[in-house]
Amino acid sequence: MSDRNRDEILSMGIDGDVYDFCMATEQELCGRFRAIDEVTEYNQLKVLNAMRKNRLGESHFAPTTGYGYNDTGREITEKIYADVFHTEDALVRPQITCGTHALALALMANLRPGDELLSPVGKPYDTLEEVIGIRPSAGSLREYGVTYAQVDLLEDESFDYAGIADAIHERTRLVTIQRSKGYASRHTLSVQETGDLIAFIKKQKADVICMVDNCYGEFVDRIEPSDVGADLVVGSLIKNPGGGLAPVGGYIAGKKEYVEQASYRLTSPGLGKEVGPSLGIYPQILQGFFLAPQTVNGALKAAILAAGIYEKLGFRVIPGMHDPRNDIIQAVEFEDPELLKAFCRGIQAAAPVDSFVRPEPWDMPGYDCPVIMAAGAFVSGSSIELSADGPIRPPYTAYFQGGLTYYHAKFGMMMSLQKVKEAKGSLYLESRKESIEQNRDDQTVTSQ
Ligand SMILES: *Cc1c(COP(=O)(O)O)cnc(C)c1O
Repeated sequence: MSDRNRDEILSMGIDGDVYDFCMATEQELCGRFRAIDEVTEYNQLKVLNAMRKNRLGESHFAPTTGYGYNDTGREITEKIYADVFHTEDALVRPQITCGTHALALALMANLRPGDELLSPVGKPYDTLEEVIGIRPSAGSLREYGVTYAQVDLLEDESFDYAGIADAIHERTRLVTIQRSKGYASRHTLSVQETGDLIAFIKKQKADVICMVDNCYGEFVDRIEPSDVGADLVVGSLIKNPGGGLAPVGGYIAGKKEYVEQASYRLTSPGLGKEVGPSLGIYPQILQGFFLAPQTVNGALKAAILAAGIYEKLGFRVIPGMHDPRNDIIQAVEFEDPELLKAFCRGIQAAAPVDSFVRPEPWDMPGYDCPVIMAAGAFVSGSSIELSADGPIRPPYTAYFQGGLTYYHAKFGMMMSLQKVKEAKGSLYLESRKESIEQNRDDQTVTSQ
């Protein structure tokens, strides 16, 4: 990078040693970044081709209101999503408010009283607990007589195939598989692993519906869960596939029959997909989808850079800087509440919106301890934009994701490291110094 960039960044309150450390780390990651670019190029073409094949035109951008009958913008958006995910059909709606809503919709639409829902990958995302009724909750599946079974991963995080085979019986109707680790400490499943699990489940019971919670996983790989046997894939438009531009929305892509069921639950039996006004939002949903591969590219590189920076400083990071990556989330265990807060405050200070706000931990509903969050986003709650959060409890883990551009996310990393340095009093954390030097020696040995 030219001296002019360095001068500019130092003038924004970053110390020279922080800047140099981040730049050296970035340099080490060049090879990985190139591999990500190749996947992005493929996914960009996949989205572009779906738009060209469906003859997306300017006329599709006209807004509709009220019932939204014959909304060609809505119809073509759903065809484009179906083509990208290689599914028979898709439901892509601004009326689906978030990822939890999309998942609840897919579940409630495809389960009937007496059916059982199975999670073969352990406890699902926190908000799903109330949808399912794991925590008693008004309107949950449990209130409608849908039971729930769960099989945890084994100690080594592999699938408990014997346990899963035992758990599947005649009432098992739908299997929900969450790709991303969420707030759990397991690894995020790759698409291929997800496919292996689906194949096993279908062998036990061919007519069971396999649904994948695809949140944070879209466009990370060349293939999506629907390419490896998933009957339904579900996600949020204020994460990866919205590309940062979609102001709201969720999607459900999959087999026609199951998507149709979801449409009857979203609107009404008899109406289904035929109603739903665009309210002028589909141009943003479409443009966001077009940009999404590139946005995910930047978010992935930023996550790897964060892993590199904190791994080299001796912190435990999940995944590690050289580990395979199947979503855009990076966890860093700070083991010190002050460092976790400093990290989040750095992310906030680097934001384009609300950079002047100083995040404080607060008692968020649904959590058993205070949580600190950093988000300075154009779209409220958007986590494809640079954001971080962490529950204030050991091991004081920061979960970090997003970045509309890599350059912004990289600056966010520098600012967070600056704040961590200020909180600790030095860049090379005293307690870590030995392990860093040890690491460096090891690397010198292996590179010789
Ligand atoms: C974010 C997320 C959800 C829920 O999405 P919201 O938009 O926050 O409701 C569900 N599952 C996973 C794995 C997620 O990351």
